[in-house]
Amino acid sequence: MLKERVEFLKEELNKHNYNYYVLDNPTISDYEYDLLFAELKELENNNPELKTPDSPTQRVGSISTGFEEYKHKYRLYSLDNSYNSDDLRKWYERVTKEYGQKDLELVCELKIDGLAIALSYQNGLFTTGVTRGNGIIGENITQNLKTVKAIPLKLFEDINIDVRGEIYMPISSFNRLNEESLKNNEKIFANPRNAASGSLRQLDSTITAKRDLSMFTYTVILPDGNNTIKTHWDSIQYIKKLGFKTNPNIRLVKDIDGAIQFCKDWEDKRFELDYATDGVVIKVNSFAAQNELGYTARAPKWATAFKFPPEEISTKLESIELGVGKTGAITPVANLTPVLLAGSTVARASLHNFDEIERLDVRIGDNVFIKKAAEIIPKVVKVVDDEEHYSRPKYIPPTECPVCHAPLMYREGEVVAYCSNEDCPEVAKAKLEYWVSKEAMDIDFIGPSVIEQLYNLNMVKTPSDFYKLSQQDFMQLDLVKEKSAYNMYSSIQNSKTRPLAKFLTALSIRHVGKETADIIVNELGSLGNIMQASIETLSNIEGVGEKIAQSIYEYFHSEKNLNLISELKNNGVTPSEASTKQSDEFEGLTFVLTGTLQSMTRDDAGAKIKERGGKTSSSVSKKTSYVIAGENPGSKFDKATSLGVKILNEDDFLQLIGMK
Ligand code: NAD
Repeated sequence: MLKERVEFLKEELNKHNYNYYVLDNPTISDYEYDLLFAELKELENNNPELKTPDSPTQRVGSISTGFEEYKHKYRLYSLDNSYNSDDLRKWYERVTKEYGQKDLELVCELKIDGLAIALSYQNGLFTTGVTRGNGIIGENITQNLKTVKAIPLKLFEDINIDVRGEIYMPISSFNRLNEESLKNNEKIFANPRNAASGSLRQLDSTITAKRDLSMFTYTVILPDGNNTIKTHWDSIQYIKKLGFKTNPNIRLVKDIDGAIQFCKDWEDKRFELDYATDGVVIKVNSFAAQNELGYTARAPKWATAFKFPPEEISTKLESIELGVGKTGAITPVANLTPVLLAGSTVARASLHNFDEIERLDVRIGDNVFIKKAAEIIPKVVKVVDDEEHYSRPKYIPPTECPVCHAPLMYREGEVVAYCSNEDCPEVAKAKLEYWVSKEAMDIDFIGPSVIEQLYNLNMVKTPSDFYKLSQQDFMQLDLVKEKSAYNMYSSIQNSKTRPLAKFLTALSIRHVGKETADIIVNELGSLGNIMQASIETLSNIEGVGEKIAQSIYEYFHSEKNLNLISELKNNGVTPSEASTKQSDEFEGLTFVLTGTLQSMTRDDAGAKIKERGGKTSSSVSKKTSYVIAGENPGSKFDKATSLGVKILNEDDFLQLIGMK
């Protein structure tokens, strides 16, 4: 039984190695591969008699054909993996114990998800570039590597030296390449790593030259006799001076706690990078300690690769469901066989629109790769290109609304399909749901199921109907008793004086979300002004384009919408107009708020800025005057740092507005 399982795992892993390393076309995600690998490793460790030299656990990568084989001067290894802080602590305990020292300095680097190569320089000139291959023998791809601009052809010193690094393709270039390939009916790559590998292993180097490849260098084999550089950290500073590109996101830490912090810091921040990283490589800093710790058959003992939770996994697409949004937009959503991805179970993924389904050629029953990025709902990124896929029928997009059966329509220049019925019940309900949402009128205790009931009982058809309801009316709903009826009623009443920007957002005007509503209210101040504004006035506002201006203008020139607004007014909805400007103190200054403030909410802080004639914005640019950072600031803080925008903490801000 055990032996059969081991044989099965070996065969599976070898098959996936071939697909991945030779064909650049994996059929399972890295995470799934790693699980199989970990299982095999554990079985072999517990039953050493089953371990054979041809096992994937005893080897690194694979060599493909087509290029001249090249025996590496110095062997290239893989890395052992860690998946959580416990694994990291165990690894650290092992190395410190083995080296006989309580603590060891560590260097943390992002693990670039590309492919490893070894470069040799003679008298400062680039001579040979070789893929890792199986670690002992690689492929000589010097000609192709010469087309990669980040590889210096001549160093700043005339020395003999060997370095290693990772060739990668920026995510933006990867997306462009796949779009192009699709247009030309060529193979699309599963991820930037496979694209980089495929581009580099082209027999015609003019093709490689057209692909946007880059390289981060992360290891140097010091020239014989160089005894001055004694740590990994110093060696990286050295290769930078020689002209190599190194990754800026590197940190020297005192012990494993520092390394764990680095891993945490990058778990979410990695999504802001334009290159793929699948983890953090943690290396013992001292070369003396590295030499003493040595290697296993596959990997150095002095380093470990912390793997981020997977962002990509494969699963079966069971069906395609159609959602109808508040603008009438039809959004296809994939129902999946549930899988664990980045710590949560995922059963649905976005397919965006019907063009996207066609682009990916998604068919019901296919195995698909889903990916979690910065978005909350994961998306389908690729179909597993197996034989079964071609035997399934192609997906045919609908021609009518799944709810009211009105024909679907397409607007010029947009790929999204819309329900053509202005009175589609699903659109009406989606608008009501949006009306009560946090971003809009922020009405607690009223969720989708309450709205469904209110709608079906003909009690609420438009937002103004919410304000006609008495406490008693809510008692007609399922399971609603006095207390929750009171809660619902009062939160509706409390919403009557929400700020004007929230009211404007809540109206669900096409192209007008929270940010745009803020900008418009900032500029025009009152509802009357907004309703009367001409297209020209609107489109002259910075951040409001022609399309948005047109949409706002049309909204306020439709009888139906004007009726809604007067109905809302008649029922007591009087949004509080933009806080009145009291001074010109902050005239011309733009502030961005991030993180949690202790003394006030971010909205209050924004109001204080506006009272002083300043502006607030939700994104940092070179034009931002100040970023106000509370506790746990988000990516805006990093962006401000990188752009050199001045950052104020809460105390600085309170002083600036004279509250301290
Ligand atoms: P690895 O990618 O897990 O780690 C070793 C590699 O990390 C090095 O060779 C180097 O290329 C790279 N690296 C990136 N940044 C680095 C840095 N700063 N310092 C040092 N090294 C750095 O190991 P591997 O042997 O290249 O590949 C195995 C991995 O490939 C598996 O974990 C799996 O996720 C994936 N894989 C997937 C499939 C599949 O079918 N999906 C098949 C085979 C392999």
